[in-house]
Amino acid sequence: MTDWERSPRGAGNPAYCYQWCFGAPPSPVVACLWFDEVHENSRGRAQVEVVLRHGSELSSRQKSRADRLLQALVAAHNASQPIRAIISAGPLPPSGQSHGGKRSVTHRALDSEPWTVHVADPETGRCVLLRGLDFVDQFSTSVPESELKVPVRRTVVTETLVRDPRLREQVLRRAGGICEFCGAAGFVTASGRVYLETHHIEPLSEGGSDAESNMIALCPNDHRRAHHGLDREELAETFKARVTQRVPGSGDTQ
Ligand SMILES: [Zn+2]
Ligand SMILES: [Zn+2]
Repeated sequence: MTDWERSPRGAGNPAYCYQWCFGAPPSPVVACLWFDEVHENSRGRAQVEVVLRHGSELSSRQKSRADRLLQALVAAHNASQPIRAIISAGPLPPSGQSHGGKRSVTHRALDSEPWTVHVADPETGRCVLLRGLDFVDQFSTSVPESELKVPVRRTVVTETLVRDPRLREQVLRRAGGICEFCGAAGFVTASGRVYLETHHIEPLSEGGSDAESNMIALCPNDHRRAHHGLDREELAETFKARVTQRVPGSGDTQ
């Protein structure tokens, strides 16, 4: 008999319905998020940023729920394990604090997309969750695992100095884990991210621009083919046409 069956109220089982998260790595983690906490970040990706620090507005029961959620998110982050999210919607409590006051739920759904724990700071309680899996290419996988877990702020600083990681990320996100040439799905790496390779259609060494419209995400096999295949020149033409369809305004010269 499961806990659900034990409850006379079915889905209203008080042992579960007020928790903020379920499970802990290596088991899957499911976090409860409020729909109005979800924002679009500067890269067009759905993001939730919460500070699970004890505030005076939290009751002791809520503090222990916040602690559990924080522990689960920190563990998922350390294990590079994506999480699932239950998104709830309901009227905001008078305090405006979504995790503070008591809220009634009008809608609730398990998000079909996994979420990535981008930041989970056990000290400050600050957590940043991004909808969808992270994508990596042949350059980012050479970065040591510890480097990939730097806080957002440091990443942003690095990106303004280094050549094009932001563009590569844009291209990988555009591809969504699917080779933009053959349509094959990239494999999932040991760190739970989807692997494809980014390629400059017109090589930088031959005057190609470091722009999204000159870049394509390919499976490893097609990437080798793009460089070494007998048909590499025709492939480049096909890539250009593909990318033109996918990048708004890519016909413009930049
Ligand atoms: Zn391919
Ligand atoms: Zn290449």
